[in-house]
Order: sequence, then C-alpha cells, then structure tokens
Amino acid sequence: MTPMSSPDALPGALILLIEDDTQIRRFLRTTLTNSGYRLLEATSGQEGMRLVSTQHPDLIILDLGLPDVDGLDVTEQLRQWTSTPIIVLSARDKEGDKVQALDRGADDYLTKPFGTEELLARLRVSLRHRQQTLYVETPVFSFANVRIDLEHRQVYVAEAEVHLTPIEYKLLTILVRYAGKVVTQKQLLKEIWGPTYEKETHYLRIYMGQLRHKLEADPAQPRWLITEPGVGYRLKVDE
Ligand code: CA
Repeated sequence: MTPMSSPDALPGALILLIEDDTQIRRFLRTTLTNSGYRLLEATSGQEGMRLVSTQHPDLIILDLGLPDVDGLDVTEQLRQWTSTPIIVLSARDKEGDKVQALDRGADDYLTKPFGTEELLARLRVSLRHRQQTLYVETPVFSFANVRIDLEHRQVYVAEAEVHLTPIEYKLLTILVRYAGKVVTQKQLLKEIWGPTYEKETHYLRIYMGQLRHKLEADPAQPRWLITEPGVGYRLKVDE
C-alpha cells in the first residue's frame, strides 16, 4: 500500500514539524511531502511556537526533547490558545513524558523509532478527528461487528443487543469519542469516577476486561480495545 492510496490523506494539509534532530527531520520531510502534505520546519520550541501563531498549521508534530524549551511546556503553552492537533515524538526511555504530554493536551504520540505507516496512520486519525469536530456527530458508531447507538444508548454485537453496565458504557463512549487515538488512564479515571480516582488504574483493567468479554471475539487477544502499556487505551479504527 502506498501512502498516496489513502482515501483519508488530506491533500495539502499543512504540517508543522518541531524537531532539532536532522535525521528525523529528513525522514519526515521525505515521508510527508511524498504523501502530499505541505511541511513547515522548526528546530526549536520558540521558533515552533512562533510558526504556529503566524502560519496556522493543520497539525503539529512536536519532539519532546528540544534544545531550548521543554516539549511538555510547548504543549501546555500551545493548548492555552489553540486546539490544533499535536502529535508528540518521544524517546523510548521517556515513557513518563508522553503520558504527561497527553495529559497536557497532546492528541497522540509516536515513540522513536517509528515507521512510515504508523506515522501516516496517526496523522490521518488526528486530521480526520479535527475535521469531524466541524460536523454534527454521527449517533451510530461501528467497529468490527459491534454497533453503538449513542442516541438510544444501545450496543449490539452481530445485531444482538448486549447489556453494558453504566460504567462499561461510559468507558466505551469515551473511547469512541477519541476513536483511533490514545486516551490516558488519568483522563479515563477522571472522567468516569472523578479527579480523586486518578490513580486507581486497576479499575480500568477490570472494566476494560469486562468490555472485551462482551465485545471482542477473543477477549484475551483484543483487536479493537487496545492497551497502550503504561499510557492508556485506544479504540482501534479502520485505516
Ligand atoms: Ca530532540
């Protein structure tokens, strides 16, 4: 599959890359321009933030390890005034940083080194998500043989209605809202149980297990309700 064949690539979308590493910039430049994206580059946090305010990119790819400003601070500063999707790049030994970046408002992350397909898939999801917010949300969401009727709060597997508890349903609808993107444990705990439950990650393991039993063909090897180890959960979507 070539990147150009993707029906969801937004031709001409303007991507701002904030990254000081020359090799990674070169890799992204080749990949993104070959896929029809326009690209702006910044090698520091300050320059990046200036370009966001003057060039209004459609999406930002942000390295967390920048020479001048911490990428986490860049995320936080940008989120004070813009909702432009931010995908952060993190080093493999900096697991905690990406979780913090997500909690400060980043939309998704890629761990270095990452491949072309993974990068393009994440871009499509974030750009599509941004577009969807411009339209009325569809009341029915589907994946595999699961159908979720958000208007009537009903869930079907292979056309048979499945009963979900209120917490299972809430968990599922949050994942649907961010379909394709990772949702952190903290985000889920806060939204379902409230801010004082932010550390009770075992709750999530229990309820996610129950959801998988009800919705996944093989709950032990989930294909759709995915765990992102140490980070959170993701409802996978067709790409
Ligand atoms: Ca760097």
